[in-house]
Amino acid sequence: MRHYKIALLEGDGIGPEIMKEAVKVLKLVEKRNDVKFELTTADFGASAYFKCGDPFPEETKAICDRADAIIKGPIGLSHEESKKIPVDKQPERGALLPLRARFNTYANYRPVSLPKDLGHFSPLKPEIVGDGIDIIMVRELVGGLYFGDKETGVNEQGLRYVKETLEYDEAQIARIMHQALKLSMSRKKVLHNIHKSNVLKSSVLWNEVLEEIAPEYPEVEIKHILVDAAATLLCLNPGQFDVMVMENMFGDILSDQGGGILGSLGLMPSACIGPEKSYYEPSHGSAPDIAGQNIANPYSMIGSVAMMLEHSFDMAGEARNIWNAMQGVFGDGYSTPDLSRPGADVKMIHTDEFGEKVVEKLQAMPAVAGP
Ligand code: NAD
Repeated sequence: MRHYKIALLEGDGIGPEIMKEAVKVLKLVEKRNDVKFELTTADFGASAYFKCGDPFPEETKAICDRADAIIKGPIGLSHEESKKIPVDKQPERGALLPLRARFNTYANYRPVSLPKDLGHFSPLKPEIVGDGIDIIMVRELVGGLYFGDKETGVNEQGLRYVKETLEYDEAQIARIMHQALKLSMSRKKVLHNIHKSNVLKSSVLWNEVLEEIAPEYPEVEIKHILVDAAATLLCLNPGQFDVMVMENMFGDILSDQGGGILGSLGLMPSACIGPEKSYYEPSHGSAPDIAGQNIANPYSMIGSVAMMLEHSFDMAGEARNIWNAMQGVFGDGYSTPDLSRPGADVKMIHTDEFGEKVVEKLQAMPAVAGP
């Protein structure tokens, strides 16, 4: 029997609610496969700060270090609540970026996916959704503006100033490009390179490195799009995209737009892949506006578990079953509140009901060992 240690970081806001549903699914996967998951819960984010003064406590670091993979819920507070925490200890700066840096999780895969029969969840017109949306955004996750040197102070004119550095070296760019090109090879062999080389020199180097590496993948057609144009085209013609590669901040913003064209950020899971260890998290935040109401959509969290099974544990078959089970629940006419307006022709269900229905569906499917 295979034995895996998994660190569970529930996080803040809706984190614990959606994590609970993800764990239900994970327990069922364990029950029906020759695998043991040893789950250890650890404090992380604003809740950890309020408990012990540190958003990424040493004990959590040690649990993550020992784990084979990490499942992380969203972290963060509302704009007003955030002010209760010193800037450098606020959840993203104090926990999320250090987690990414610790495990060097440079490749972030964010599927933006909606099958045709769930097209009614999208705010886009049916003729634009067409046969469904099926994109993977590959976001560089440990470089660029978010990780560059930062400086604040008062300048010679007595004005407060801030300086943040956007830095990439060619090796950082090359490794994410290889990931994106390999992924393109396994899909439609079209890679959209998202950049801003008309303004940013970082994008000029980004494009140069891609051009140097691309000949190693002669079958992949590369299309270059400026990030601003890409934002428009995602709304006007998402069907043209398959794999999109982009630097850290572009990926942060465009992938939220990806959630928008699907109908909700609640449909956005992700995998953060490092050379030795990976972690899995929804793309969205802690949704303080709906926390504690049992109305969050746990698809993003359960989908992150599916991505873990595929990428960390070689269980792509069970991962596929989970996707099918979740989409099957929606296919039966159910909806979580984020995806449908009151009065829509759907059967509205809560967070926990969605999890239970996914478990029922999965139970009815034969387990698939291995990829
Ligand atoms: P958010 O992503 O939390 O929420 C934006 C909107 O999407 C809200 O209306 C919310 O209700 C909705 N939403 C998000 N996830 C949902 C789900 N699973 N089901 C239903 N609806 C969902 O963004 P925000 O409000 O700008 O940020 C809240 C906090 O989250 C902030 O502190 C921010 O810094 C943090 N944040 C954390 C992460 C992370 O942990 N990786 C990512 C983004 C934002």
